[in-house]
Amino acid sequence: MKIAIYTILFLLSFSIFSFGQNSIGLIGGNIFDGKKFVKKDLYIADGKITFEKPGTLEKTIKIENQFVIPPFGDAHTHNLDREFQLTYLPEQYLKEGTFYVQNLTAKTKNIDYFRKYFSTKQTPDVIFANQGISSTSGHPFMAYEPYVMGLYDASKWKDNIEKIRTSRLDEGNSYIFIDSKKAAKEKLKGFFAGKPDIVKIFLVDVGNFEKNSVDEILGNSGLPAELAEYVTKESQKRGLKVYAHIDTAEDFETGVKIGVDGFAHMPTWNGKPETKQEFQVSKKVLEKAANRNIVISPTIAITTGGTDKDSQEYKNQIEFIRQFLSKYHKLGGTILIGSDYFNRPLTVELKAFIEVDAFEELELLKIVSETTPRAIFPERKIGFLKEGYEGSVLVLKKNPLEDSENLFGITHWIKQGQILKFD
Ligand SMILES: [Zn+2]
Repeated sequence: MKIAIYTILFLLSFSIFSFGQNSIGLIGGNIFDGKKFVKKDLYIADGKITFEKPGTLEKTIKIENQFVIPPFGDAHTHNLDREFQLTYLPEQYLKEGTFYVQNLTAKTKNIDYFRKYFSTKQTPDVIFANQGISSTSGHPFMAYEPYVMGLYDASKWKDNIEKIRTSRLDEGNSYIFIDSKKAAKEKLKGFFAGKPDIVKIFLVDVGNFEKNSVDEILGNSGLPAELAEYVTKESQKRGLKVYAHIDTAEDFETGVKIGVDGFAHMPTWNGKPETKQEFQVSKKVLEKAANRNIVISPTIAITTGGTDKDSQEYKNQIEFIRQFLSKYHKLGGTILIGSDYFNRPLTVELKAFIEVDAFEELELLKIVSETTPRAIFPERKIGFLKEGYEGSVLVLKKNPLEDSENLFGITHWIKQGQILKFD
């Protein structure tokens, strides 16, 4: 019954129209070759890119001097697993150019439905980590449980803290608690049976785990290091990549030590000088992370979102993030982009990347349209405009290598050979 309701919502309020052609020609544009733009025509035949003109061309789009790039990816969200979002959010992702999305902790009960829903040419392609894995009452407990209890107003949480502490309405849906190896063995069985595409674990101030896990505060811990390592190894044995939520430099170091594949954040300093030390990762550890090909999605917008933009703390944060990202990039480390903003797509984070200005225009274009999509779907032929690659492209009015703001000026969208149009 629920599924039927979703379908009706989709039909009524989704305003994307797609037109499938067997062969499309984008004529007179500049094609991104991974380094620069080259003036040539690009064709999409049977859903794939080709530079040889097909015998018959069903649709010709003149894009004189516009710029063709691969679509964007968002490597960190918690969106697209909720019914109410279906009426607007998939469209917002596509319209801003984001075709590939990685959900790092999802409401899992109806996940089979959402997986199927997001497997069409008119929707973004989404992979899901399913439940977040933490220890009892650790993060992301407070991001889910109070809301399921009907406590939408965070100022009410203090008065209800004991009720929240013992409530488990969303257990097994958005989060799984693991406090021992024995529990890990049992609970991971069910978790893997849910067929997650990737795995999300939580490291939250891991150096103070013993203290934080028994204090009055909820959500200020994650997994202890040894259980985080166990979950990581068990997941990787099954071919699953593991992303770690982190807060501090020690969380980062622990993640490198236990061998995670990616960081869902960078160390999240609030810009107050007295705490900076806790968030500073040593060059040695950064080098190790880069050598092990650990990817980092820094979530700049959400990290700085609560800081007054006119304050010194904000300036400190932006400078700290810029230095961290440039250092990691220079060491050969891979940076991904992902917004982590609930109910919003990627644009807010793309703007934050532009503001932080750690990367040249070319590098930012590659992060958003090549590296991130390929990290989400490594087995697919995406991220490049090459012969035989998926026929998914964006056309920009102006050159994004001259100004990254031009990434916001999309004039045409084609997904797997389908032309998308928006109201
Ligand atoms: Zn997140």
